[in-house]
Amino acid sequence: MMKDLNGTGMAPDGSLAQMQQTDIVIIGGGLAGVSAATALSRRGYDTTLISARDQHPPDFRAEKLGQAQMELLRQVGLDATASAQMTAFDGVWLYRFGRRVEQGGAREYGSDYADLVNALRRALPAEVRSVVAKVTEIDCGPDRQHIILSDGQSFKCRLVIVATGLGDTIRKKIGVDKQVVSPAHSLCCGFDLARARNDFPFPSLVWTGERFDDRISYLTLFPIGDKVRANLFVYRDFAEEWTRRFRADPRAGLREVMPNLERTFGPIEVVGPVITRPIDLVRVSNPQRDGVVLVGDAFCVVCPITGTGIDKALTDVDRLCNVHIPRWFESPGMPLAKIAQYYADPVKVARDESAMKMSLDSKSIKTDPSIYWGLRRLRSRTLGQARYAMKRLLTRRESSTA
Ligand SMILES: Cc1cc2nc3c(=O)[nH]c(=O)nc-3n(C[C@H](O)[C@H](O)[C@H](O)COP(=O)(O)OP(=O)(O)OC[C@H]3O[C@@H](n4cnc5c(N)ncnc54)[C@H](O)[C@@H]3O)c2cc1C
Repeated sequence: MMKDLNGTGMAPDGSLAQMQQTDIVIIGGGLAGVSAATALSRRGYDTTLISARDQHPPDFRAEKLGQAQMELLRQVGLDATASAQMTAFDGVWLYRFGRRVEQGGAREYGSDYADLVNALRRALPAEVRSVVAKVTEIDCGPDRQHIILSDGQSFKCRLVIVATGLGDTIRKKIGVDKQVVSPAHSLCCGFDLARARNDFPFPSLVWTGERFDDRISYLTLFPIGDKVRANLFVYRDFAEEWTRRFRADPRAGLREVMPNLERTFGPIEVVGPVITRPIDLVRVSNPQRDGVVLVGDAFCVVCPITGTGIDKALTDVDRLCNVHIPRWFESPGMPLAKIAQYYADPVKVARDESAMKMSLDSKSIKTDPSIYWGLRRLRSRTLGQARYAMKRLLTRRESSTA
């Protein structure tokens, strides 16, 4: 018989909650949750995925993935589904201070985030029990975990994985606090261009801010289907006048901070709305609890400018599902001592720490007026110019000897 979670033995609607047994309950059907459900089911665990909605809602989040992230998706068996849904393109032209400095050839992929997550959801193994409901009660302990849902269903399991992204409800229910490491750290703007993909000479573009005072990190243009998608990353506040003006007239806003962009590639007209997302850097403090682990953005949010959020989420899933859970399930119980191994995993710790450090350093090098960061800027610029000059020389030599 189920543990009497709400003191009545009843579901919130008054009906008798029916207890179901499963090995693992995952709460949150975003990229981390769906990847974990797929990986665990393929390993033979009885897996239940609880999502707040039947579809991941339209959401401006990661829209570009590289080969490293595709490799992490491969490790959880999702690379084929992901690449079938995404638009592949080969290479990026990198511009600094209005000049082309690099022309890479590596394959990358563009997609609307919700479309990607929903494609991965549709490809969930049939064995995954997928439930759309809200968690109303959660009770975790060193042996068994109990969950009651808004539709009256209840589950008893060995482990709960919290993959609820920025959602706070479950984190609060299990008593884990969050710490805002850097409030209003950056701002991401997403919009579509009027011109089609074939109208530009590059496969994709990264154009960095041209002046220090503008607090612009970079603009990236890349294809999703036939259209060209733009992500602009800036160190500005959602409420400031610059942001209001940019949203009202993005073409004029781009001309102001990137005057050489239109001179190089012609008119950059924007169609549709400019979606803006302010970013706080966040990590949870003291997350170790019996029977429950946090993954992805539910554990830690880093700056999208670094392009490390997906890496971090998939590293969590890979280490948890492919290394720790198989060991934990060899013996009874799910006490804190087991859970602590995941949070101390050297691969996870290194990935989280480097993503957070990169998030903080990337802002300082673009905006911090101190002498230390001024010197770092000078060094980065000088080394960068020397590296690009060397590359140009080698390319010229290669083409003259060919
Ligand atoms: C604007 C922007 C741009 C970004 N760009 C990049 C990029 O270029 N590269 C990169 O690597 N990363 C980028 N990121 C970060 C990346 O998108 C995230 O790190 C990653 O998507 C996190 O995945 P997740 O599964 O942890 O969270 P999510 O994908 O947010 O999934 C959380 C899920 O949990 C559900 N949920 C929430 N609460 C509950 C609840 N109580 N019960 C049930 N379900 C619940 C939500 O509905 C959602 O489906 C970007 C982020 C933003 C905001």
